Amino acid sequence: MFTIELLPAEFGDAIWIEYGKRGAPHRILIDCGTNAVYPAVRERILALPPAERHLELFVVTHVDVDHIGGAMALLRDREQLGLTIGDIWFNGYVHLAPGGKVPLPEDDDILGALQGEALTELIMAHNPARWNAAVGGGALVVPDEGPLAPLPALPGGMKLTLLSPTQRHLDRLRPVWEATCKKAGIIPGAATAAESGLLGEEGEPDEDDDILGDLNVDQLAATPFKSDAARPNASSIALLAEYDKQRVLLAGDALVPVLMDALARVRGKVRGRLPLAALKLSHHGSRGNTSLDLVKAVKCANWLVSSNGKQFKHPNREAIARVIKAGGSGVGLHFNYRTEFNDVWDSASLRRKHKYKTHYPADEGMGIRLELSK
Ligand SMILES: [Zn+2]
Repeated sequence: MFTIELLPAEFGDAIWIEYGKRGAPHRILIDCGTNAVYPAVRERILALPPAERHLELFVVTHVDVDHIGGAMALLRDREQLGLTIGDIWFNGYVHLAPGGKVPLPEDDDILGALQGEALTELIMAHNPARWNAAVGGGALVVPDEGPLAPLPALPGGMKLTLLSPTQRHLDRLRPVWEATCKKAGIIPGAATAAESGLLGEEGEPDEDDDILGDLNVDQLAATPFKSDAARPNASSIALLAEYDKQRVLLAGDALVPVLMDALARVRGKVRGRLPLAALKLSHHGSRGNTSLDLVKAVKCANWLVSSNGKQFKHPNREAIARVIKAGGSGVGLHFNYRTEFNDVWDSASLRRKHKYKTHYPADEGMGIRLELSK
């Protein structure tokens, strides 16, 4: 079996993945939403029998509050929950320079290297040997050149290929690391996560919210694409997950040019669109993170959007229109909340005209679950 679930993570991501034998699945968690999202993740873990409270992998894609907020609460609570974690993937301050590695506990300058950053301290307290262990404690970065291949498989056979970030984008985060961590509330004494969320990313200009009748998908899709350039997003981990002949692109908040380059290197000499079972849209369906070219690079039936629309009014209509327009017929849109920003796509005439389907949570606060194989 292979399932992917977008937990209700406010304006962030918390992606719960199960794979393996039915009745004895392996689990991966990618990000943990904002601080306020943690109680739902906690419930989820507590619902497991104590012997099953194990994550093969916990990924923290990057240091924005909507991905990292709940991660700290989870790690603080880990022992109380009886949760064990096989490996934590997170590029910390030590990884922002080429060759940077997880420090050894006996390193004298460890505090300097940590920069007082709370998530790193929690990971070190958990077990430094299980931090980016898949790459020997180094940075999780896409190699500079050559075809891209999966990292050593996780227990149970899940294969993950890194699609983002590149070392260049990690280097560029270095000068703004401290400010970014402060904004995310992960430097002690800085603004709380709730306050810092309001400081968030650069605001995007408002679009016309008062369009009457159906949207003009062609026009929206054709809006010139301007790539997101936020340095924290550029440092985001993005992964291609493969299990049971199903491939899923988990884009984090990564940038389109980085993803495009990586997809070309995954495809290698194989021509045409890369077949995918699902794609989690980058940056909650922001117009700056989904281009027509990216949509055309894959053949994908299920497009997942994680956002309650707060803060940044995601998903943007241009991004969804590009998916509908270039994704081919039978595109399915999966939203983990029903909001005023994604409700517009639940129009029978639009669905008929552009041949796509929509999926919303059956109940508020449930998130959405996709079964890729039984
Ligand atoms: Zn985000």
